[in-house]
Amino acid sequence: MASDGTDIAVGEWHPAGSSRSVPARLIEDNDGLKALDQAGCELAAGVFAAVDFSPRVGAIPRRAEFPDGSLFETTDNDAIDRFLKGKGKTNFIHEWERFRPRLIAFVLATVLCGVMIYRYAVPALVEVAVLVTPPIVPKIMSASTLETMDRTVLDTTALAAERQQKIRDGFATIARLSNRGEGGYTLNFRKGGAIGPNAFALPDGTLIVTDELVELAGDDTEMIVGVLAHEIGHVELEHSLRQIYRAAGVTGLIMMIGGDIGSGVEDILVQGAGLLTLSYSRAAEAEADRHSVELMVKAERDPTAIARFFDLLEKELGDGADTSILSTHPGTPERRKAILDYAGALRARGR
Ligand SMILES: [Zn+2]
Repeated sequence: MASDGTDIAVGEWHPAGSSRSVPARLIEDNDGLKALDQAGCELAAGVFAAVDFSPRVGAIPRRAEFPDGSLFETTDNDAIDRFLKGKGKTNFIHEWERFRPRLIAFVLATVLCGVMIYRYAVPALVEVAVLVTPPIVPKIMSASTLETMDRTVLDTTALAAERQQKIRDGFATIARLSNRGEGGYTLNFRKGGAIGPNAFALPDGTLIVTDELVELAGDDTEMIVGVLAHEIGHVELEHSLRQIYRAAGVTGLIMMIGGDIGSGVEDILVQGAGLLTLSYSRAAEAEADRHSVELMVKAERDPTAIARFFDLLEKELGDGADTSILSTHPGTPERRKAILDYAGALRARGR
């Protein structure tokens, strides 16, 4: 029963799932690895690639697990290292195959962690950043944005003074009822040029409405007031700040909250042009729509005028106008329906 082969180490052998231990030695012969008892009888056997060696951790006894689940255990770590080293390339492949499931698990855990940060940490950091933003920041952002736009696309308004006044009067009735009050907003008229019929709000309460939008609405001032109420919604819900902060990412947000405004974040905040390339999420649009409806109802104006305006926009501009208000404010049928439904619900409640 004595087996020829090379001795690797002396230790103990444990049958699979048992704490019983048998004095044993580990050898290698032409068939592979074997654990033999003191009489030289075979306790377990397996080809090298099928035997799993535990990694070396300090003086903790090393284990070699045989395919049948039984274990050979030894305190002679050096002997095991010498043996594994001698296996060279075979050893490497063996190690790799053993490592691969762990590597996949590690990659999955990393990806999952990234997803969690994106889903939970970023929104939380954005909220903190909005809270700690000093009022000067939206002012700087807004001023530089308007300055950039005036230099590049916008032109002086050509609207008649009476037309402007009528819209200002209508706007005052809703701005007065907003959280910021009438003083929280400045309404500006501009010729839109390339951006056509459009209206937008800057985070400090600066609103811009283009001549083209006013002309499109014709005599229906109510529509324009409805659109402005929607823009007030974007300001009060701080949509553009949130949007910008989301773009700043985790690192930028942490730096900003920590008061360390790095050059990258400064660029984001000061280069107002960034504001123009951002479009609001569908959820933000729906929120601003509801805000518009609420404000219009409060002011005893027509809350459905904005839905009428989206209808008109689509009829007049079609889908091809990608620089228009439609690209940032997609007037889908669902959106119009949501506006009408909400207006109906609020009215029913009011009566
Ligand atoms: Zn909007």
